[in-house]
Amino acid sequence: MARPRTPKGRAQRTNERLTLLYPEALCELDHTTSFQLLIATILSAQATDVGVNKATPGLFAHYPDAESMSEASQEEVEALINSLGLFRNKAKSVIKCANQLMDHHDGQVPTSMKDLVALAGVGRKTANVVRSVALDLPGLPVDTHVLRLSQLLHLTEALPESQQRDAVKVELLLNPMVPAAERGSFSLRMILHGRRVCIARRPQCEACVLNDFCPSSTV
Ligand code: SF4
Repeated sequence: MARPRTPKGRAQRTNERLTLLYPEALCELDHTTSFQLLIATILSAQATDVGVNKATPGLFAHYPDAESMSEASQEEVEALINSLGLFRNKAKSVIKCANQLMDHHDGQVPTSMKDLVALAGVGRKTANVVRSVALDLPGLPVDTHVLRLSQLLHLTEALPESQQRDAVKVELLLNPMVPAAERGSFSLRMILHGRRVCIARRPQCEACVLNDFCPSSTV
């Protein structure tokens, strides 16, 4: 099979190969509603999904929805999430976010990027996770793994070097390379691949299904 020569070609080949490798593109944050995914994603900043999944059952048992969380006290929420880094700031954010949902969205999670990023603690990455995983809308979350793999695969070569770690610029560049309905799963698969194979500092190129066309492959 010919090597793809353009960033879009490499993105499409990456999408095909990672879909075969990881047929189930699952978000690893436990949740049962879009509200719970929103809160879990806010809590996941500088924390592992495993760590967040240990904290959220207790949190959601007390505050399963925006209405109950909007009435929580800072101390109560802090006590339930104090195993996570930055727990004081995160407690403040999730309570404020729940209040914003009650005040402006009838307690529901909004669908538009503009409304989502207006919520406390929510940036484009969190908004894209919620849109793609919980709302079945186009969204390509860009985290550290997506940034690293995009650079190694030279998907971002059209950007100046100084912008290749800019999550928003990379998201906007990648969007047209991937079909809208597949953007969320593309991102989740890149994240999985970055955790399991293309590991920072020691990428496992010999075992990588992208090594026949990845410009950074060492094999
Ligand atoms: S071939 Fe190597 S550098 Fe390229 S994506 Fe795979 S593990 Fe990463």
